Amino acid sequence: MLAENSVDTIILLGPDNRFSYVSPAATQLFGWTPEEMIGRRAEEYVFPDDLPAIQQAMSKFNAGLAESAKTVIRRFRKDGTLVWVEVTARALLNPASSEVNGIVLVMRDAEERKRHEQELEALARQDGLTGLANRRAFDEVLHLEWRRTLREGTHLSLLLVDVDHFKLFNDQYGHQVGDDCLRAVAIAVQGAARRPGEITARYGGEEIAVILPSTDAAAALLVAEQVRLAVETLRLPHARNSEGGGLVTVSVGAATAMASMGGTNTMPESLLTSADMALYKAKENGRNRIETALLLAKP
Ligand code: GH3
Ligand code: MG
Ligand code: MG
Repeated sequence: MLAENSVDTIILLGPDNRFSYVSPAATQLFGWTPEEMIGRRAEEYVFPDDLPAIQQAMSKFNAGLAESAKTVIRRFRKDGTLVWVEVTARALLNPASSEVNGIVLVMRDAEERKRHEQELEALARQDGLTGLANRRAFDEVLHLEWRRTLREGTHLSLLLVDVDHFKLFNDQYGHQVGDDCLRAVAIAVQGAARRPGEITARYGGEEIAVILPSTDAAAALLVAEQVRLAVETLRLPHARNSEGGGLVTVSVGAATAMASMGGTNTMPESLLTSADMALYKAKENGRNRIETALLLAKP
């Protein structure tokens, strides 16, 4: 009676690994009636990507090292959609002989919990001020993209974008307006680098980094120019940036790396150093401009 009235779906798994009892709450969760589910194997209708998670959760349990196993997985519903469910497994012991008679599975809707987790995960990778990817996400992507560049034998480019005379901008208009300006610049940069795989991140205070996968030096220079122009085209006034004609402008350091015999640079750190040096040169040479660097990396 308890099982029949439970909000959670309670399932009894027989020794043949097939459902032998399914409580009525299953219909709400999966769309199938208990009658339709009885006789099915436990792994049936589990989203294939989540099968390893089940095996991992069940391994200690099956070896008798844990009393219960808990995991969060996706199962298919009758209408073909997926639902996140938290599944707790416990052995059903025969009270007289202590023999395992089967396994009790308790399944509970975990959609909201998963959504919340995913929101938190996304937040942890996002910069609060600009909404761009943050430094942590940037570092991860840069490592992954360099590994891919090695596999595919292509180039990897990186832009470091820095607002010109931003300290003077803050001094002139106030920090609040400075923040708004940074947000506007972030949107402009992101808009100029939106091919699939291109990642725009807030690298530091007023520095934005753009990762350009499978992009050689010539192509990177084109994107850098689009970025520079997109910011200039905002036409945000910056009275103390004479080098930028009284508008908010950015300087860009563009670096491109390729793996090559004889290359000595360690990646991806060297790509950052090179882009930073190119950026420094762009500042030296009058700002609101791009300088480039090429490096041969250790394969
Ligand atoms: P340069 O053209 O050489 O880059 O000059 P700059 O003044 O931009 O360079 P500097 O690195 O000396 O100063 C950067 C300034 O950016 C200092 C800091 O007050 C400002 N800044 C950094 N992060 C933020 C932020 O989140 N909001 C605002 N409003 N200002 C910021
Ligand atoms: Mg700076
Ligand atoms: Mg600056």
